[in-house]
Amino acid sequence: MVNHRFLGSSGLKISEITYGNWLTHGSQVENETATACVQAALDAGITTFDTADVYANTVAESVLGDALKGQRRESLEILTKVYWPTGPKGPNDAGLSRKHIMESINGSLERLGTDYVDLYQAHRYDTETPLEETMQAFADVVRQGKALYIGVSEWTADQLRAGHALSRELGFQLISNQPQYSMLWRVIEGEVVPTSRELGIAQIVFSPVAQGVLSGKYVPGEPLPAGSRATDEKGGSTFIRRFLRDDVLARVQELRPVADQLGLTLAQLAVAWVLQNDNVASALIGASRPEQVVENVKAAGVEIPAELLARIDAVLGDV
Ligand code: NDP
Repeated sequence: MVNHRFLGSSGLKISEITYGNWLTHGSQVENETATACVQAALDAGITTFDTADVYANTVAESVLGDALKGQRRESLEILTKVYWPTGPKGPNDAGLSRKHIMESINGSLERLGTDYVDLYQAHRYDTETPLEETMQAFADVVRQGKALYIGVSEWTADQLRAGHALSRELGFQLISNQPQYSMLWRVIEGEVVPTSRELGIAQIVFSPVAQGVLSGKYVPGEPLPAGSRATDEKGGSTFIRRFLRDDVLARVQELRPVADQLGLTLAQLAVAWVLQNDNVASALIGASRPEQVVENVKAAGVEIPAELLARIDAVLGDV
């Protein structure tokens, strides 16, 4: 059963598993499959959906909007992001300037078929725009009712601290960060998580299954599974490459006895693992097939005992 967790120190609750559509909707998978994945997520109790204007050059937002048509809006939390250009790369078509934010939110709302998003996220930090300008624009987006809450993605601890302080001065609160986090990518444990705990910021963590690698389907010495992200010529294969090393894949196979002991598949173990971190509000999963959603949501509510967490650390070492 998928429970809900508070998003940082806000009153907003999101499902502890969020379904996201990067690389899949509008790209790797047909719209029919995309809709089936969204339906599987809804059926499993997922209420939180993540996308971005840049995914499939805006098409992913439209596909998600269509798939959610007819759902009761109040029962959903819809998240999107702004930063990268989605079409012409003119001087103001990227970043976190007031102009780009104000124009981008309107396009996202139209494509998603909604009057507001629950969480509007800065997809990255913009070193070229004064942070004051960005946060003022976000404050105005909230005041206009186009977004209910503001978050960011892959900001450093210092950036989170500065953004959070400004948001408070401007009468709202930066409540979430969306970083990569998995058994194979633990960077946020160093500074981001401790700082976030202090500030009341939660993590919505992406790629908890390391883009499929932690499902154990990539086996050293064997051909890449047909139809997998590693073979996706439309773009997915470039992002997953960093994990496709024989030493990493071999260690993943060594995690099987741990998963077996808990009665889980490897993918479920991977999702359950990120949810053990109390600063994580939600594991943000992707799926190219509804069966993957059905499988992975069963990680919700699983507790991994300390001795098995230690065994996982021992197996993975410093990969
Ligand atoms: P995951 O780590 O969950 O990887 C999802 C992919 O792994 C699936 O599409 C599928 O790929 C494979 N997979 C998942 N479960 C299984 C399974 N049980 N068995 C076999 N294969 C499986 O997350 P993503 O990398 O997709 O990221 C999830 C979301 O996070 C995105 O949709 C997006 O919303 C967000 N995100 C945010 C970023 C940011 O910068 N803020 C960056 C990246 C993602 P396949 O079947 O094709 O092999």
